[in-house]
Amino acid sequence: MTQNNGQDMPAMLPHIQALNTYEGVDPMEVMAERAGIAPDKIIRLNGNENPYGPSPRVSDALANFQNFNHYPDPDQRNLRRVLSGYMNVPPEMLVAGNGSDEMIDLLLRMYVGIGDNVIAPTPTFGMYSFSTGICGGETISVERDENFEIDLEAMKAAITSKSKIIFLTSPNNPTGNIVPEAQTRALLDTGLLVVMDEAYFEFCGETATPLLSEYKNLVVLRTFSKWAGLAGLRIGVGAMDPSLAATMMAMKPPYNVNLAAEVALTTSLEDTPGLLERVQQIVTERDRMMVELDKIPNLTPWPSRANFILCQVPEGRGKEIFDGLCSRGIFLRYWSSGRLKDYIRTSIGLPHETDAVVQAFAELCGGSDAA
Ligand SMILES: *Cc1c(COP(=O)(O)O)cnc(C)c1O
Repeated sequence: MTQNNGQDMPAMLPHIQALNTYEGVDPMEVMAERAGIAPDKIIRLNGNENPYGPSPRVSDALANFQNFNHYPDPDQRNLRRVLSGYMNVPPEMLVAGNGSDEMIDLLLRMYVGIGDNVIAPTPTFGMYSFSTGICGGETISVERDENFEIDLEAMKAAITSKSKIIFLTSPNNPTGNIVPEAQTRALLDTGLLVVMDEAYFEFCGETATPLLSEYKNLVVLRTFSKWAGLAGLRIGVGAMDPSLAATMMAMKPPYNVNLAAEVALTTSLEDTPGLLERVQQIVTERDRMMVELDKIPNLTPWPSRANFILCQVPEGRGKEIFDGLCSRGIFLRYWSSGRLKDYIRTSIGLPHETDAVVQAFAELCGGSDAA
C-alpha cells in the first residue's frame, strides 16, 4: 500500500470527471477467452478492419528501415509530399495525424471550448462526441430520418450561437450511406466549420475534396486504417485551408506521427494498385454478403457504400441475437441502447467469414418468436 500523507486527490475538471469512455474494440485474445474458443477460430468483424492486412511490402520496409533512433520530422515534409499525391491536394493544405482520430481531436481543441457545441447527424461515429466531451463541449445529436438520411432542416435548426463544428461522415459509420453533395454544400453555407470524415472513401469513390477550393470552412479527413490495413500503426490525414493547416501544424504534438507509420504509409502508397485490388475484393464480397443477408427472413441489411453492413433484427431481439453470435465465436458491433438497439453491424471479412456470419444470422433470426 502506498503511504498516504493525508492529502486528497486534487479535484479534476468536472467535464473530465463526468466523461463517458469510448468503447473501442477488444483484442482478439480477450474475445477468444470470453467465448471459450481458440483465438484462431474467432471471427472478429467489429472494427471495420482490413481482412487482408497491410500491403505485403510493409513488413519488409519496416524490417529494413535503419533510422528508428531518430525523431520524425515535426514539419512532416516527406509525409505531406506523399499525402499530397494521394489526396490530390497541395502539401500546405495537409496535416498528418496519429490516425484520423487525432485530426478530430486537434480540430476540436482549435474550435471548441467549455460551453461550445458541435452538431452531428446521428447515428454516427462515436469519436466526435467523445472528443468534444474532452474539450468540455456538448454534442447536439440530430436524428437522421427513417432511411438514415440527414435531416437538413433539423440540422440547420439545431445551430446555436455556441455551435462551432458540423461533423459529416461519408459513407457514414454505421449506416453505410453517403452525404449527397447538395447537403454538404447547404451545410457549408451555414459558415460553420464542416468536417467531412471520409474514412471509407476508397470503398465508394466519392469525395468532397473538389469543394476545398470553394469553401475555406471545409475539412476533409481520410485514414489508412480501413482501406490500407494500417489501423494498428495509426495514420490519418486532414485536408483544409492552408492557414488552418499552418495553425494546426503549429499546435499539434511535434512528433505526432511515428516513423513506423510514416514508413508504412509511404510503402503502402507505392503499392496503391495492389491495395485497391483488395478494396475491390472487399466491395465484391460486400455485395455478395448483402444478397445473402437479404435472403434471411426477419433480417434487414441496409445498403452500404463502405466495408460493413448494418443489419436490422426483429424488434426487441438485438441483445439476444448479438449474444448468440458471440457464443458462436462471431464478434460483430452492437449498441446496447438507443435507436440502434436492434441493429448489429458486420464488417466485411473473408468469404468463409461471410458464410459463417450469414449462417449464424439465419439460425438466430429464425427464432420461435419471429414475426
Ligand atoms: C474507423 C473510423 C475512423 C478512425 O480512423 P483512425 O484513422 O483509425 O483514427 C474515423 N472515422 C470514421 C467514421 C471511422 O469509422
